[in-house]
Amino acid sequence: MFLKIDCILKNTTLTNEIGREVDGVVVTCSRCGHKTRSYGQGPNSVKRCLALMREKCPDKLDAFYAIKRTEDDGEYDGEYGND
Ligand SMILES: [Zn+2]
Repeated sequence: MFLKIDCILKNTTLTNEIGREVDGVVVTCSRCGHKTRSYGQGPNSVKRCLALMREKCPDKLDAFYAIKRTEDDGEYDGEYGND
């Protein structure tokens, strides 16, 4: 059985490799507060953050990560859950 872990999505500005500010997303694990970041704000960027969370979150092991809500808007429609 998989443990489901809710994550919080935030649209933000990140600094890229050459010091420019670019749009990005930050996803935060609601259990341990681990954060992953990805450039861009489309579905692929969110999916990348969730994939990184599966690799890096200290809770991990067989956990299922899904966006529960956004930091700014509250409710989230769940479109970006793991496949
Ligand atoms: Zn975690």
